Amino acid sequence: MTTPEAHLLDWLRDAHAMEQQAETMLKTQASRIENYGALKSEIEKHIEETKVQSERLEECLRLIDGTPSAIKDSAGSTMAVAQGMSGMFASDEVVKGTLASYAFEHMEIASYRVLIAAARAAGEERIRELCEESLHEEEAMAGWLAGHMDEVTDAFIARSAAPEASAKR
Ligand code: MG
Ligand code: FE
Repeated sequence: MTTPEAHLLDWLRDAHAMEQQAETMLKTQASRIENYGALKSEIEKHIEETKVQSERLEECLRLIDGTPSAIKDSAGSTMAVAQGMSGMFASDEVVKGTLASYAFEHMEIASYRVLIAAARAAGEERIRELCEESLHEEEAMAGWLAGHMDEVTDAFIARSAAPEASAKR
């Protein structure tokens, strides 16, 4: 048998690795964007939130006597570098990056929903609260991206059609 606490511990470690990956990806994106100021500043804001989310997960892990998984974290950040680079040579880099971010935020939302349910099952009220805080930030970021997807796409298309403008980032 496996206790609710054991599942919670496992999933907290997965989430911590996910947030490490998020930080690497977002930093890569923000550093490369030149012509899409609103997107860049929203990503920069979310980098700061992402660091706090990692700290919240570390706090959650301390609350149930766990430590972040070093192996998962390093594998996660290697994947993040690969993903960050995969769209880098695309001529529509900013559009590919926005797509990837939208998908990633929704994976984070799903992860926090699972953690919230698991914390409730384990009777870990403080962990549930901390995960709710992060969930709201992920929902806000996903909502921003949903609300600006057309704007980014329109701006990219307009820049692509202009003779001198650089559209890709
Ligand atoms: Mg996050
Ligand atoms: Fe996020």
